[in-house]
Amino acid sequence: MALGFRRPARDSARAAPEGNGAGPANRPERSVVLGDVEELGIGMFWATDAEDRLSFLSQRALADLGAERDTLIGTPLTRVFLDADEEGTASGQRSLAFKLKARSKLDEQVVAVPSARGSTRWWRLNGRALIDAKGKFQGYRGSAVDISAQYAYETQVARQSQVDELTGLANRRKLGERLSAILAAFRATKRSCALMMLDLDRFKQVNDTMGHPAGDELLKQVAQRLSSIVKDAGEVGRLGGDEFQVLLPDMDDRGTLGELANRIVQSISQPYQINGRRAIIGTSVGIAIAPYDGVEAEELTRAADMALYSAKETRGGTFCFFTSELRDAASKTAMLGDRLRDAVDKDELKLAYQPLVDPETNEVKCFEALLRWHDEEAGDISPAHFIPIAENDDLIIRIGEMALKQACTDALAWPETIRVAVNVSAKQFVRPGFRKAVANALHASGLPAGRLELEITESVFVGDLETVDAIFRDLKKLGVRLALDDFGTGYSSLGYLKHGHFDKIKIDQSFVRGCTENGDINPAIITAIVALAKALGMETVAEGVEAMDELQLVRERGADLVQGYIFSRPMLQEQVLEKFAEHDAEFRPSGPPRHRSERITIFRKVGLIHEDHYYDVILRNLSKTGARINGLAGVPVGTEVVLDLGHGQLVVSKVANASENSQGLQFETHLISDGSGGFMTRHRISPYSLAEAGIPLAALGAGAFPLAAWREANKNKTVPKFVQLELSAPGL
Ligand code: C2E
Ligand code: CA
Ligand code: CA
Repeated sequence: MALGFRRPARDSARAAPEGNGAGPANRPERSVVLGDVEELGIGMFWATDAEDRLSFLSQRALADLGAERDTLIGTPLTRVFLDADEEGTASGQRSLAFKLKARSKLDEQVVAVPSARGSTRWWRLNGRALIDAKGKFQGYRGSAVDISAQYAYETQVARQSQVDELTGLANRRKLGERLSAILAAFRATKRSCALMMLDLDRFKQVNDTMGHPAGDELLKQVAQRLSSIVKDAGEVGRLGGDEFQVLLPDMDDRGTLGELANRIVQSISQPYQINGRRAIIGTSVGIAIAPYDGVEAEELTRAADMALYSAKETRGGTFCFFTSELRDAASKTAMLGDRLRDAVDKDELKLAYQPLVDPETNEVKCFEALLRWHDEEAGDISPAHFIPIAENDDLIIRIGEMALKQACTDALAWPETIRVAVNVSAKQFVRPGFRKAVANALHASGLPAGRLELEITESVFVGDLETVDAIFRDLKKLGVRLALDDFGTGYSSLGYLKHGHFDKIKIDQSFVRGCTENGDINPAIITAIVALAKALGMETVAEGVEAMDELQLVRERGADLVQGYIFSRPMLQEQVLEKFAEHDAEFRPSGPPRHRSERITIFRKVGLIHEDHYYDVILRNLSKTGARINGLAGVPVGTEVVLDLGHGQLVVSKVANASENSQGLQFETHLISDGSGGFMTRHRISPYSLAEAGIPLAALGAGAFPLAAWREANKNKTVPKFVQLELSAPGL
């Protein structure tokens, strides 16, 4: 990262003639005068020929550098003067080579000049391209001032500086020092410290389309928002570019951290006013906590970085905690990317169609096209997983165009009142050529534009909104319908709804699922969204309806259409055609009467502690409030146990029900959401306590909690109460 180099005050040398038509070399009477100027130490002069080679350098300059005239004259200027940036100290000036090539004016260009004596001098150049009467470039004429002494001082100041000049926040250097100091001090007193790493989503787009000054202004506003959220709880800094960091001493409550991260994501995603234009960006946050995820600054920083990477991978605009699994996630993703490319080449991606049903008549009005990929090795891979991988490169364009084409072709075989909805990734949407791809798909299939609906998420509303607006207008001109997908999860800025781009809003599953549970605020949100949509003339869809009571609720609240397992899972085109062949356009609801608390089905080996015994069990499913395990026999209902979910996550639980080899556990304290669809404990046992139990801190890799060591130590002291079953046994 280049440190800011403050330009020294202008001095009298600026007044010296620079590159004024005739070179100082070929006018003797002037050169006498100039010679005097040089003698007085006010300035030096230089010139180049039309090939950008040095053709003249003041005697004084040559002496300064201890160079022979012959060794320098004729050398390309970019070899005589080096970019100061390469030394990592100058301001973000354009390179000398760039300016010479563009024939632009050199205005206080700071360069490094290696002297024959081995040391480097620092000069500030001014100069201009000399163009002859015929418009031909003749070379540069310019002056130079030696600013070595001043420069050394400025650089040192910049190096010692603790403040990021643009935002006034702590800079990378200060943050690094603070983190090391805190971690060292806290180790002695066994305190914790959280580190949040932030990276803005689509900042580059704003910078590129609205200009660098706008980008700078945006960074300032981001800094203000961050500071006003974090307040005294921690220290906010900017690492450079669009990267920010927050240090939060004495913080290891992952519930509180998740809430804070969420507030940060929400706040940064609100629109910005910059010179009268609006811009929206997003941010992703990675979180690591000492001493759990690392005890050294470098270790902790790497952990937070990995978590950030994972948050960006997931979908951006979200946060992620570090887990040791993340370490090899990156390479897995790369491998999956290769296989995905293969699958696309071999045309192995298929589409499935899920009906959107009118809950009053049970009639299907539309089908949403959803990608399906079956990989030989990995089995069925969810589009929620592979679409973000495809978005990393041009693969998303190919996949997107394939889906559009196929969906239009398939829909043409349905009754003409039925529409098809196709998902469009934000990356695909903003690429030039998207409108054309849509037009091509319609043309090739012969599907009327009004029967095609594009599902777009709020994440398209980032970056330069004027460009986005233009894309919308183009699409509307084609006559396709637009649906706003996953409404309520993204940047939650309602402004763009008013532009009237959308025909439909899809209320996200997270508001629908479990909305009938007591004390849930989601029914109120659903009502509000429906009212808003009605007022703006849009249709509403409730997504992810699984249970009868949810269906009843969304119907009562006025959702026009319902999509969810209650009516049908996504089905193949053959099945859709079969249904229509029987002149059946109705889907009857069927599902559980009530929503059940969310459980994730898993199959993972975890630990269970009872008295001083440690058992291996298999976790079959997990929810916020409980879990089901296999692998132990003879565990009575009511037994108090501690479930070890790994990485220091211990959950005090009670056996609520039990069959021969399977137990339902109820947790004493509820788990919290990990931000990416899983659950985790709010607190973890600290490596410090393990250290007290005789395991040296240094032996603990990030995220490693060798309870096995504890188990060894306690082995055979007493007789185990339960029977440990063979975990590979069938039926487990
Ligand atoms: P989405 O657009 O929100 O699609 C709805 C997802 O919810 C689908 O998951 C669907 O199978 C699932 N779903 C529908 N009803 C229920 C329900 O009652 N309960 C539950 N638990 N799930 C339900 P799927 O097929 O795994 O797709 C996931 C995401 O992948 C989609 O979310 C969409 O964002 C993306 N995707 C799928 N196909 C495409 C595509 O062709 N292009 C792009 N860009 N993205 C796609
Ligand atoms: Ca969708
Ligand atoms: Ca959706």
